Amino acid sequence: MSFENLGLVPALLRALNDEGYTQPTPIQTQAIPLALEGHDLLAGAQTGTGKTAAFGLPLIQHLATSPQEVSRSGPRKPRALILAPTRELAVQVHDSLRGYGKYLRIPSTTIYGGAGMGPQLDALRRGVDLLVATPGRLIDHIDRRSVDLSGIEILVLDEADRMLDMGFLPAIKRILAKLPRPGAVGNGRQTLLFSATFEESIKQLALEFMHNPQQIQV
Ligand code: AMP
Repeated sequence: MSFENLGLVPALLRALNDEGYTQPTPIQTQAIPLALEGHDLLAGAQTGTGKTAAFGLPLIQHLATSPQEVSRSGPRKPRALILAPTRELAVQVHDSLRGYGKYLRIPSTTIYGGAGMGPQLDALRRGVDLLVATPGRLIDHIDRRSVDLSGIEILVLDEADRMLDMGFLPAIKRILAKLPRPGAVGNGRQTLLFSATFEESIKQLALEFMHNPQQIQV
C-alpha cells in the first residue's frame, strides 16, 4: 500500500515525502480512505501508530479541496476542530498538521490553558480554518463568545478515553452542542473519534454524537 493509493492530493504526498514517510501505517491505510469519503470513524489506536496523520491528512485534504460555505458577513469561522486532552498533545498535533499542510494554505491556531488569552484572541479574530484545542480553554472562549463553532465541518476527538478520564465529558458535551449536527456522508458534521480503549462512556458518546460510524482498530 502507498500513500498515492489512498487518494491523497499531490501537495500532501509531497509533504509526506519531505517528512520521510514512505508507507502508510495500518491505521492510516484503514482510516484515510473512509475519512476522505466523509464517513464518521470510531478508531482504536494507541499513540505511536501514526494516528495523527490518520485523521490529519484527510482533514487537511477536506479543507484544501472543498470550498467553504459562503458567509455573507463576519470573520472567517473555523471549519475543523481537533480536541485533545493536554496542551502538549494539542501543540504536537498542530505542529504535525502544519508539516503535512505546508504546501497548502490552511490558517490554523491552538487554544490551550496555562497561556495568556491575548494571543489566542488575536488569532481567532484574524480567522482560522483549523482549531486545535483543549476542552477547558475552548469553553472559556465559548463563554467569552470569542469563537464561533457553527461552521465546523469536521470534528476530531483525539485520545477520547484520556479526555474522559480527565473529567472533560461535561466540557465536551457543551462544545458538541455548539457544533452543527452530525449527518449522513456529505451532509452535516463529520466526526473522527480516536481512542486507545473503548469503555461504555466512549460508546455512549459515539451513539449520541456520531452518524453511523465505521469502526476500525489496529
Ligand atoms: P502518532 O501515533 O501520530 O503520535 O505518530 C507517531 C510517530 O510516527 C510520529 O513521530 C510520526 O511522525 C511518525 N509517523 C506517522 N506516520 C508515519 C509513516 N507513515 N511513516 C513513518 N513515520 C510515521
